[in-house]
Amino acid sequence: MITIHLRNKISQRIAQGHPWIFANEVERVEGNPVGGELAEVFAHDKKFIGRAYINPKSQILARLLTRDKNETIDALFFERKIKEAWDYRQKIGYTENCRLVFGEADFLPALIIDKFNDYLVIQTLALGMEVWKDSIVNALEKIFQPKGIYERNDVPVRELEGLTQKKGFLSAPFDTNIIINENGLRFHVDIEHGQKTGFFLDQQDNRKAIQHIVKGADVLGAFCYTGSFEIHAAHYGAKSVLGLDISEAAIESSRKNALLNGLQDICRFDAVNAFDVLKQFSKENKQYDVVMLDPPAFTKSRESIDNAIKGYKEINLRGIKLLKKGGFLVTSSCTNLVKPEVFLNTIESAAKDAKRKIRQVVFQSQSADHPIIRSMENTNYLKFLIVQVL
Ligand code: SAH
Repeated sequence: MITIHLRNKISQRIAQGHPWIFANEVERVEGNPVGGELAEVFAHDKKFIGRAYINPKSQILARLLTRDKNETIDALFFERKIKEAWDYRQKIGYTENCRLVFGEADFLPALIIDKFNDYLVIQTLALGMEVWKDSIVNALEKIFQPKGIYERNDVPVRELEGLTQKKGFLSAPFDTNIIINENGLRFHVDIEHGQKTGFFLDQQDNRKAIQHIVKGADVLGAFCYTGSFEIHAAHYGAKSVLGLDISEAAIESSRKNALLNGLQDICRFDAVNAFDVLKQFSKENKQYDVVMLDPPAFTKSRESIDNAIKGYKEINLRGIKLLKKGGFLVTSSCTNLVKPEVFLNTIESAAKDAKRKIRQVVFQSQSADHPIIRSMENTNYLKFLIVQVL
């Protein structure tokens, strides 16, 4: 058995429940670990901490799977954990589509599973999880008897683990263009080619939050991807909706989704750079009742947080300038590196620059099927804000 012995003082992070163990927190490793192997972790005073998978190639040397001395890590462990994750989702009201497993927050570090009705999409983002992929697929077959399982491991973060990027079927092949229901609407999901796992489930509850403010409104939505917010706006009674995204494929899917819901007369979609177009609209004195912004993360590392904040400020300033007095800004940020307080301050500062007053209508996080555990800061990543702009 491989054993990992931590340095003098166990870090607060690990003590409070975070499963990651960095190489510089470890005094010594006994045995000759092969990447992906299981190891027992001990504190400096020899106290048992838990069982983890290890990867000597990764900066995150090990990730804890259990802190229970009596719990064995085997195929049944994964089946039990996935069942627990599914029970939890059902208990809080998710039946058809949900993030079934949200990595650390489900105590399965580096495992993501999205459920789109009868289809499951998996990401195994660390070597120690990758080696259990067959057991995970078997467990999913047993629990769900799904119509299909697909792997979207075409993610750069895998390379930090010495893994290659790949995607493909983990079940018998199936048509990867599927349709899901969300909030009484229907959406095409392209499991094979869509961004990430194909559809952003993390905003599914937030999309409902625009219900009242879009009635009779002229709505502008930037960074629309599949048009999900924009089609919700049309469905909830907007007069007109314009959605923008830089990706032609995204705009194509937005148009298909508008058609699927019979909302093609209200929704228009354009493939453009939102930064440029928002600036141009402002020059032309265009005015909207609701502006919705859901940009990409702008940063993936701590070093570029300042640039990300600049990006958020810039795009929100442009959005605010396009709002009629009393209109609403619906704005998101999807990186945990920009903390909620910092995001709120950024929007406040954009409003000041635009010489407008704002008042908060809604401020929340990602949907509850992506649970937040306070001691694992990377689980608290999405900010969703609606403000009235006066
Ligand atoms: N609102 C979407 C998710 C948006 S993801 C939803 O709820 O599903 C961010 C989107 O921003 C991506 O589709 C990406 O193509 C787009 N994007 C990135 N840079 C852009 C830019 N400069 N202008 C317009 N769209 C951009």
